[in-house]
Amino acid sequence: MIRILAFAIALGIATPLAASDLYRIWLDGKPESGAKLADTYRTVLSLKGRFTDALLSQEEVATLGRQGFRLEFVQKDPEGLMRRVAASPDRGHFRSETEMLQELRMLAAEHPRLVRLEDFGDSWEKGAGLGGHDLWAVGVFSATADSRQAPAALFLGGVHSREVATTEVLTEFIHRLVKGHATDPQIRHLLDTRRLWIVPLLNPDGREYVLSTDAWWRKNRHRFPASGGVGVDLNRNFPFYWASGLGSSDNPASAIYRGEAPLSEPETSALGAFVTRVAPAASLSFHAYGQYILTPYGYPERRPEDRTAYASLGRELSEQTGYPWGTVSEMLGYHSSGRHDDWLYGMRRILSMEMELGRTFFPEQPELEVLNRIATGACLYVARAAGEWVRASLSPVSPPPPGGKAASESPERVMVLELTNGGLADARTVRWRFEGGSAALMSPSSGIVATIPGVRHAPSTVRLPITMRRPVSGLVSSSKPLVLVVTSNAERAEIPLEPTARSVPGE
Ligand SMILES: [Zn+2]
Repeated sequence: MIRILAFAIALGIATPLAASDLYRIWLDGKPESGAKLADTYRTVLSLKGRFTDALLSQEEVATLGRQGFRLEFVQKDPEGLMRRVAASPDRGHFRSETEMLQELRMLAAEHPRLVRLEDFGDSWEKGAGLGGHDLWAVGVFSATADSRQAPAALFLGGVHSREVATTEVLTEFIHRLVKGHATDPQIRHLLDTRRLWIVPLLNPDGREYVLSTDAWWRKNRHRFPASGGVGVDLNRNFPFYWASGLGSSDNPASAIYRGEAPLSEPETSALGAFVTRVAPAASLSFHAYGQYILTPYGYPERRPEDRTAYASLGRELSEQTGYPWGTVSEMLGYHSSGRHDDWLYGMRRILSMEMELGRTFFPEQPELEVLNRIATGACLYVARAAGEWVRASLSPVSPPPPGGKAASESPERVMVLELTNGGLADARTVRWRFEGGSAALMSPSSGIVATIPGVRHAPSTVRLPITMRRPVSGLVSSSKPLVLVVTSNAERAEIPLEPTARSVPGE
């Protein structure tokens, strides 16, 4: 297992070669060849014996082709891209730490009632007096959400330095929230009912090093003079089964060095204190790359206790993004310990999930825009799921028969209103009423449900029979579509229902 892990994520410092392009080598039918490829080629990442991604010269591409491997081109010369980034003072289309901070400061200054910028700690280099950086968290939510102590959600990126897109997508998410608050009623509602905290860059020293010096750097920049090693893998430094050492290393030279103790690093210990203070209900963290969604645990022999919630959130997030989901062990085929998501869930009971974004560590601008859309959608989903989230549908009890004579002659029609709660929190004292459209035809047209449990409990859907009367000419006069207005303790939602004109008897 350890060998496979090292093979999967450690890329040796190679001597500069002629330009190499990133290819996916499919291991169809010969999964055992993955390890051999890692010995011969500059492998970047591999998955469960299914494929190996490697940087290949044209001669190597030809050789592998002759050996019968199926190759898929992914990206032209990623190292060339990163050399241009390093040579450019503003780091090309990636944000330097300074650029990111300037944007965040500007947003906080322009929207003081919506955006809070908080310095929650120092990077290792700053603590050591070697320059370094502050650690920043951005809170985006209204004064209403603040005074209600609305449910919080945490979004985390920039943990592994070379996974540069993760900081980009979270900075864009912050912009999207601020813009949406002015223009999009759904975002405005969200920011009244949730407290969203975003940590776009947990490892600023590492990011600066990647953008200026060594594109492949993964860890923080902690110096260990005794061994000459540099850096701790921040995603192996959290307390959940840290001491097991499974899937991590005790060697400071290793790419997966777990550090001298759990939370030994200023970045991880500051995050621990921050999480205690903010107390999120859910979190989504970003890593790269792979195009999948990971749920705890990475540690074997432990299964997440909240299986129902993970099944619901994992499936919906997967449908929305097109990324498959599963536990770390299922998806990656290897185990690891000391991960932040295992700690958030296993020790703090924060429903944590992780996205492995994209198809390369260093996306070009057009791919970055695709990733921004995927990540923003996923963040909005997790933000909603962090609280109560009642959804509704209205449908006929049985579909009308084709050419439905019986249905069309019946003076009334039995419908069923389904109320489900896709969020983590239970929705209590749920009041509902129809408005607009054919609301006057619905009987009953309003009601109360004591509790609709959240997805932490067994799936529960409340089904209510609704009779819809035959419309009399002139009765359905509202041009407003039929909506269901749902209010509960803390929330109010207006849920558009399927246009009912087609199912109204006689129309
Ligand atoms: Zn990562």
